[in-house]
Amino acid sequence: MTATKSSLDAPGYRCFYCGGALDPDAVDTMQRVVGWGRKHAVGSRRAVSTNIEARELRNEFAHDNCVRRIKRGIAPAQEALL
Ligand SMILES: [Zn+2]
Repeated sequence: MTATKSSLDAPGYRCFYCGGALDPDAVDTMQRVVGWGRKHAVGSRRAVSTNIEARELRNEFAHDNCVRRIKRGIAPAQEALL
């Protein structure tokens, strides 16, 4: 097990996408959640409101804005170049 870059040991959380600092207690801070959804629903374009079962929280965080950009198909780093 390598203990490099544990986000919990870092002095302040970093955004997964832009690398910027963020406040883990802020109401709009996003945390990565993984889980399971029904295959036919997850694969469809209308998977936005699909129920996710057996959710697991990951130690990955992001800005609300960065996640919204990802949903629009724009990488935050890419937008910075525009
Ligand atoms: Zn960000």
